[in-house]
Amino acid sequence: MMPGTAVKHDRLVKLARARFNGWEPVVSGPDDAYRTYAVQEHYYRTFPPGMAAWPGTSSHGGSYEGEECGAVDYGNWGQVGKQPWYQLLRDAGFEPGFFDGQYGRPVEPWHAIDRTPWHVPAAPKPRPPIDIEDEDTMTRTFIQESRQGSKYELLRDGTKRLIPTPEWNAIRSLEAEAKTRGQEFQVVVATVTAADLKKIPTYK
Ligand SMILES: [Zn+2]
Repeated sequence: MMPGTAVKHDRLVKLARARFNGWEPVVSGPDDAYRTYAVQEHYYRTFPPGMAAWPGTSSHGGSYEGEECGAVDYGNWGQVGKQPWYQLLRDAGFEPGFFDGQYGRPVEPWHAIDRTPWHVPAAPKPRPPIDIEDEDTMTRTFIQESRQGSKYELLRDGTKRLIPTPEWNAIRSLEAEAKTRGQEFQVVVATVTAADLKKIPTYK
C-alpha cells in the first residue's frame, strides 16, 4: 500500500470498528491494494472480460487516467450494506462507487479509490502539558456525579481528568495543610448530573 493509502486504510479500520461493533473491512487479497504491472497482466489474462484493466492502466497501479490513484479492494463490504459502506469509505478519505456500473464501467462496490495515495497527513501536534494547579488563586475545581462517584478535575481547557483516590486524598491533605499555614488553597467540589458529566470531554 502506498503511504497515503495506508493512513486512510488505518482510519477506515478504526472507524469501522467503532461504527459497526468491531467489524473490520478486509482487503480481499495480497494484490488487491497496490498491484504491480506483472499482476495486472496476469489478471487481464485470467479475469472475465471487463473485470480487469488493460495492463498499466489499473487504478491499483499508482495512477489512473493520468492522475495519482491508489485503489484498494475490500471483499467483505457486503456485510454492512452498500450505503453504510460508501459512507464509511468517504469518512476515511476514500472515494467510493467509482466503479458502480456508470459510464460503461464495471460494478465493483468493494473498490475504494484513493486520490492522494502519496500524501501522508502531518501528525497532529502534541498538546502542551497543562499545569494542573492554578498559580494565581490555587483554586482547583472538581466534579462528581454523587458523593460516592468518581471525582474529576475540571481543567482549564474545558476537559475533565479522572482523579484516582490516592491523588484525591493527597489533594485533601494539601488543602488541610495550607489551611493550617493560613495559605489560600481552595478545593471546590460540585455535584453534577450523569448527563452533564458525560458532556464534558475527557482530557487525553
Ligand atoms: Zn479494484
